[in-house]
Amino acid sequence: MRVIVTRKIPGNGIKLLEDAGFEVIVSSHDRALERTELLNFIKGADGVLGQLYEKVDEQYLEAAGPQLKIVANFAVGTDNFDLPALSSHNVIGTNTPDVLTEAVAEHTFSLIMTITRRIVEADKLARTQPSSFGPEVLLGMELKGKTLGVLGLGRIGSRVAEIGKAMGMDVVYYDIKQNPEFEQKVGAQFKATPDELLSTSDVVSVHVPLLDSTKHLINSERLKLMKPTAYLVNTSRGPVVAEAELVEALKNKVIAGAALDVGETEPKWAEGLVDLSNVVLTPHIASATLEARCAMGELAAKNIIEVLSGRSPLTSVQAK
Ligand code: NAD
Repeated sequence: MRVIVTRKIPGNGIKLLEDAGFEVIVSSHDRALERTELLNFIKGADGVLGQLYEKVDEQYLEAAGPQLKIVANFAVGTDNFDLPALSSHNVIGTNTPDVLTEAVAEHTFSLIMTITRRIVEADKLARTQPSSFGPEVLLGMELKGKTLGVLGLGRIGSRVAEIGKAMGMDVVYYDIKQNPEFEQKVGAQFKATPDELLSTSDVVSVHVPLLDSTKHLINSERLKLMKPTAYLVNTSRGPVVAEAELVEALKNKVIAGAALDVGETEPKWAEGLVDLSNVVLTPHIASATLEARCAMGELAAKNIIEVLSGRSPLTSVQAK
């Protein structure tokens, strides 16, 4: 059986596939494949270990051929999967939950601290004017005693909430599912609507999946509900935030600042975003720890091994 790996990955994932006896073909390009390159490359595959920027739709499934049994996403998010198309082709889709939760939560907190303590501005100043100490230079916001609003209390949101609590923050959350057990365990407070969460938080951290119902969940109307001293952090998926509207809100000081790991139309940021000093940006690296990326590759490989051996995958995302 043939397994196509659309981009080189760290760790033992490829070795696991080879040891299982599959023919493993790894892309020799250290970059995202163009669509036509990708469609040619996956032809004849029984399994594909793929990346989140590769749309798995009707065209993809037809290009791969009827022998395809599994597409294992190297990501927990599956907004690149057309789930009905996967079902109609009898192809199993899998993701990599849990193994990246800590990495993403830690990156989220790095962003929270970087934006609230103005680390990027400070770094530039330290390099160019090292003697710029002053009582009013680069004043930031302390986190202890402030309110952290977690939008989407799943695996990653819960961990971010725990870290916030450990930093002495009051934690509020909104999720379509209330979680009384977590509220009790961590001391988090449920807000009945996203609007209520936005108006009470000093830092809003977004952790919902990208769905039709979450696209532009944060738009100009909702940004206006936030405190002018508050910060928005997004490590979920770019289109959850209406990015051009965020740029306007940041320019007009509707909110104090934003930190984003994900963009609405990656790899391009909305016009004007990179010129703003009250913004911190990272290029979709929230899961980029060696630990997480190795574990993601291994989990994706194990999913392929299970399915191509006629067993159930470990982490299926098929429509229920
Ligand atoms: P999860 O499924 O455990 O959590 C998502 C939570 O969002 C769930 O609790 C769900 O009930 C909630 N939710 C769904 N729709 C909602 C809505 N309309 N309003 C409020 N809550 C809603 O997923 P996870 O493992 O915590 O990952 C969350 C997302 O983070 C992923 O879907 C992915 O898009 C993103 N992610 C990004 C990176 C990165 O590199 N930046 C890495 C990993 C995950």
